[in-house]
Amino acid sequence: MAAYLELCHSGKLRERIEAAVSLLGSCSVCPRSCGVNRLAGDPGKCRTPREAMVSSYGPHFGEEAPLVGRHGSGTIFFTNCNLECLFCQNYSISQLGDGEKVNKEEIAYRMLSLQAKGCHNINLVSPTHVVPQILEALETAVESGLHLPLVYNSGGYDSVETLKILDGIVDIYMPDMKYDDADIAKELSGIESYPAMNKAAIKEMHRQVGDLEINEEGVAQRGLLVRHLVLPHGLAGTKGIVNFLSKEISPNTYVNIMAQYHPCYKAFQIPGLEQRISPTEFREALSLARKAGLSRLDKALPIGILGIRSE
Ligand code: SF4
Repeated sequence: MAAYLELCHSGKLRERIEAAVSLLGSCSVCPRSCGVNRLAGDPGKCRTPREAMVSSYGPHFGEEAPLVGRHGSGTIFFTNCNLECLFCQNYSISQLGDGEKVNKEEIAYRMLSLQAKGCHNINLVSPTHVVPQILEALETAVESGLHLPLVYNSGGYDSVETLKILDGIVDIYMPDMKYDDADIAKELSGIESYPAMNKAAIKEMHRQVGDLEINEEGVAQRGLLVRHLVLPHGLAGTKGIVNFLSKEISPNTYVNIMAQYHPCYKAFQIPGLEQRISPTEFREALSLARKAGLSRLDKALPIGILGIRSE
């Protein structure tokens, strides 16, 4: 049973919604803390005023195996983002605003239609800046029978205060850990505080849901799943991140070390980011994770089909 059903039936979901919506008045939904009044229609750094936007939704079979199962993960891609990654692989959605405005009934409809298609979960992609809008939609969807687990699939720059509002609502957290170094985070995503805020967020997520639990059919039910995209020339700080996960979160953390970096958006302008990673760089990242004591690594695809550049 999805975590939020109990909160909803006890009437406490409404309190969480009110707490989340109140953050929009002087926006501190994410650690940027822009202070703009989104209730009055002012956009902050995420370019999203009162209403959320969605670019697409549907069953997705390219996510991690425990999310996909047999019938797919029910993704909803929210437009815009609180990060400004120069190499974003979804930049038309996250940076260029590809999508349409949706009210709570329209988001709820998308959730319910994914459930009707047999998806195993509702996978909220880039949810950080629209948490209040998602909660409003969730209440509407539950009234019409939504019961699937929620996956919070974020870039990892999440506020602990906002995450506390989600305690007992989100079943599976799937954040990125993009960088271990503040200067690199500033240069590539425009946010110096990313590593510190990211680590605090991961701790809160793990406190809420623990290590990833997978049922006998191989489908994730609850817990933390961390994504780490390996960047060329060690820019992602893999060693620091895997050591943090093993020592300060749990050696049982389920981690997807990702090799699919490819230059796009503004990456061609950044020395070192204009090429894919090499097989050696990817193997080294996996080796660092294993040496750190992490053993639950998502099943890596054969290097040959990832399009990694040759040595
Ligand atoms: S959610 Fe958007 S407006 Fe609010 S603090 Fe973050 S970037 Fe700023």
